[in-house]
Amino acid sequence: MEMHAVSPETEALVDEVLRYARERMLFTAVPLDRPMPVAELERLAGASVRREGLGARRALGVFEHVLAPACLSTDHPGYLSFIPSAPTKAALAFDLVVSASAIYGGSWMEGAGAVYAENEVLRWLADEFGLPRTAGGVFVQGGTIGNLSALVTARDEARRRAHAQGRPSPERWAVVCSAEAHSSIASAAAVMDVDVVAARVDDQGRLTGDAVAEALAGREASVFAIVATAGTTNFGIVDDIATIAEVADAAGIWLHVDGAYGLAAMLAPSTRHLFAGVERADSLIVDPHKWLFAPFDACALLYRRPATALAAHTQKAEYLDTLTESADWNPSDLGIQLTRRARGLPLWFSLAVHGTDHYRLAIEDAVTKARLLAAEIDRRPGLSLVREPDLSVVVFRRDGWSQSDYESWSDALLDQQKAFVVPSSCAGEPVLRIAIISPLTTIELLWEILDSLS
Ligand SMILES: *Cc1c(COP(=O)(O)O)cnc(C)c1O
Repeated sequence: MEMHAVSPETEALVDEVLRYARERMLFTAVPLDRPMPVAELERLAGASVRREGLGARRALGVFEHVLAPACLSTDHPGYLSFIPSAPTKAALAFDLVVSASAIYGGSWMEGAGAVYAENEVLRWLADEFGLPRTAGGVFVQGGTIGNLSALVTARDEARRRAHAQGRPSPERWAVVCSAEAHSSIASAAAVMDVDVVAARVDDQGRLTGDAVAEALAGREASVFAIVATAGTTNFGIVDDIATIAEVADAAGIWLHVDGAYGLAAMLAPSTRHLFAGVERADSLIVDPHKWLFAPFDACALLYRRPATALAAHTQKAEYLDTLTESADWNPSDLGIQLTRRARGLPLWFSLAVHGTDHYRLAIEDAVTKARLLAAEIDRRPGLSLVREPDLSVVVFRRDGWSQSDYESWSDALLDQQKAFVVPSSCAGEPVLRIAIISPLTTIELLWEILDSLS
């Protein structure tokens, strides 16, 4: 066989990029960094895309010295806003392998080995959540696409069922969720041109079966899905999934559980009980890039009956019969995507390396730190909790502070490169919100942040 020679330039380019990636992955102190105004970036980075290439060294230099420092490191232990990320080194390193391997993850024919490994992870998750052996799914880009894919499947199923029962489809389809549901539900509804019925929450901020029943009254025939949130992004509130499942079941309506952030906490012993009822979901999502220590971007989307998703999403309808009957598993047919990266592989590798017990411990660790932080806030004069944390999000206030006080404090914290904590709001009141994911976020750092508030 004739060897295909690689030029010295190509070899040097690969070495340079791997050198940078290696250094970044092995940093013991990740720089937090900060965003930069566009004028500043124009001045520092200039234009890199020109008729003549810059060459590997200069192009990488622009990234390393200008562009990368203008991006927040979401894996910094002091990145505590939104939902932080904390990929394991195993998952990060393996992401490079996924890139290097040019795997097409859309079909069994092209990516059998990768799809097999991804399915092993999905199987593990499905078992943890109590779904039947016949459940299955796909890793899609993120929770937003996961929710949209699941809701499209739910509506397709509702249409099919109405048709089979000789009922006309309603003029407008609707989805029921709580007012605390993630914005991606409203976004999916807008894409699908369906209505959102916001059900009331109880005094704990949770959606319950009673509230869903109220919201359904008189419109059962037009509601194609009920969405329960397993850990709201703002507070980490877990809806009362068991009673919601009762109502969904009785009405014959699809139950989707949005657990993009929180459902990972079902793996932790002390929070597992909060998720009772998840096993009755028709579909659910959890984002490995949030609390399962995988790099961006991946959402695990699971269906109780994957055939419903095949029916809704398979792009080449003429193949539908063979696909649904064959043992081959084509991930592209289960969500909104065709070409796909085998984005579940970094999580697969990390799970295979470390074992699932470590994941439980790491998730429990964040829950414990959130509880300790809440207790400390309670103890300190001048600070008060807005709500006891259920998962790993702590929301609190500094008595007497206005929005601008919070903002200047937050700016100073970032200026010192200590932490990234942006003000949030709760019922119109400015508050602070700390979300803990990384095992590297120390109690000392959390206490220092509280100290800086006095
Ligand atoms: C983050 C989040 C989403 C959206 O997920 P992306 O991966 O950002 O698209 C949806 N629902 C909930 C509850 C979330 O926390």
